[in-house]
Parts: sequence; structure tokens; C-alpha cells
Amino acid sequence: MTAAIGRQGSGGDRVANRPQDVKEVVKLLLLMEPADGGFRGLPPQPALQSAEQGICDEFLVGVITRFQNRWSQEIKPEATDKGTSGRVFPVSRTLTQLRLLASKPGAAKPPAAPVKTGPAATPESQLLARAKKLVTTADSWRDSAEKVLYWAKCALDSPGQNAFNDQALVLVNRCFKVNEHIFTTFAKSDIDRIKAVFRNIADFYAAVKTSGEYLNVGPPIRPDDIAYAPVGGWARKDKAGLTFVLAKCKDKSDEDLTDIIMHESVHFAGGIDHYLIGGKDPAYGSKVFTLTNSQALQNASSYSYLAYIARMNPALWSTAT
Ligand SMILES: [Zn+2]
Repeated sequence: MTAAIGRQGSGGDRVANRPQDVKEVVKLLLLMEPADGGFRGLPPQPALQSAEQGICDEFLVGVITRFQNRWSQEIKPEATDKGTSGRVFPVSRTLTQLRLLASKPGAAKPPAAPVKTGPAATPESQLLARAKKLVTTADSWRDSAEKVLYWAKCALDSPGQNAFNDQALVLVNRCFKVNEHIFTTFAKSDIDRIKAVFRNIADFYAAVKTSGEYLNVGPPIRPDDIAYAPVGGWARKDKAGLTFVLAKCKDKSDEDLTDIIMHESVHFAGGIDHYLIGGKDPAYGSKVFTLTNSQALQNASSYSYLAYIARMNPALWSTAT
């Protein structure tokens, strides 16, 4: 230890608080038993978060002060003197006591768990927290899509009976062209197939919400990747789940990020890949409206587009893009 650390004064009472000295005292505190005023074997301590980086803040001053009060008999008068309480000097009873307790038998080993600085908010963890929150939004979009599918089926059974149901069928036809079928039964079985995709997504979202798993941040696999997911991974309980590319996702609006989550969920939980226009161009965005019935059924964006529009006001179902 080279200079004093701890409670900052002013003018001639300045305390150096050199980072390596701060870290040295923190190291001693981490070697000491909790009963002695230390933190040995305890989980990462928020109160030491800055101090472990070499910064003396009010939390560390509090730890030092409590330590001095705990050992006031041994270190007096440093526990009470205005110039020494809340501080550790290179030559002091406080430092001697810290070292003595840190070297007690059984206290010589560093804590078994690596000492982390607590849940620091990295850009990655912030994006993941946001994505997890938006899974709830995506789940409500998914619910809207399932409702639209149900109403569309009602419209197939009783066309012209309910304008609302008819409107739902218009949206389903925009995304999946089930009106290409001559027989209603085929159109209805398509709707059941589409619905099954959203059912799997519902199960997947329930698991994400309870376990917090299946969401990751990672590097792009292809240069243009915004996010990606293994097709059909959910059926295999593949923990790779959905991966977001930080640089491409962090500035997206909540709506765009929800749309990305939905699209990747169609891949992951729905087991649907892209339909490649001309064998090479994935049918993204409004290109979905150009696909035939059988093409759309194999195209992830057709499903995510349905969910994207289904959660809007029904008046927009026939026109929104
Ligand atoms: Zn995709």
C-alpha cells in the first residue's frame, strides 16, 4: 500500500485513493470471514463493484467504517478520530487488523467463485433484457394472428355473414393465398397448418418467459445477418435459440425488434425456412404478397407478416404493409 484510501476530504485533507491501493484493501476484505467484517465466500457484492475496479466510492467508505466500528477496541483511536475513520493508511492499526484477519487459517485462499463486478449492464445484456421484454409483445402479435386465422375459418364456413370475419379472411389471403384452392376444405387445412406454426411459437414463448433461455447475442454468420435461428431448433430443444447481432439490433425500434423476434421464432419454433424467389432471394418484407399459396406456406416472412398486421386495427387488415 502506497497512500491512504477512503473517505475523501478537502484541501489539505485530500486522500490519494490510488487504484492499486483501493484494490489491495478490497482483496483483503474479500479474504476475510463475513463474521470479521469481510466477504469471503459471498456472492458478488454490489457495495464493492466500483472498488474492485480501483475506485473508492461511498460504499467502500461504508465498508471500512463498519469494519473499524466492529474492531474499535483493537484499532482505537482510528475508529473514532475524524482524520482516520472511514480511511485506511499505509501505516495504521486498521491495515494491520485487515491483514491479520485476512491471513487467519482457512482465510488464506481467495473465494472459490470468481469475483465478478455484479450484473454490469453491458450493451449485450441490455439488448437481451429488451428482447426478453419484447417476447411478451411478440406473443400478443402471435395471439392476434391465431384469432385472425380462427375468424378466417369462420368466414370460409359462412362467407358474407360477418364483415369482420370476411376481413380476417382477406388478410389471410393476402399473406397465404388460400383462395387459390377451389375446395374450402383445402383452404381450411392450410389455415390449420399455419395455426400449428403459431401454436409452437406460443409454447416457445412460454418457455422463454419462464426460463429466460433461448435468447442470445452473437456475431453475424453471414455479413447481412440481423438475427438468426436454427430452423426447427425448438423441436430439438436447441438452446441456440434466437441470436441477435448487437450492432444491427441495438438501435432498432421496439416494433422492428418485435418483428425480428417473430420472424426468427417462425424459423426456430415453427420450423419454417425462407422461400427463395428465383432460387436465391429470400421473400422478405412486402415480397411476401407476390408469393403463391404453396410458396407462402414455406416462407417464414409470410407468417411473421401475418402476425405483424393481425395485431393492427381490423380496418387496416386489407391494406397495411
Ligand atoms: Zn429469416
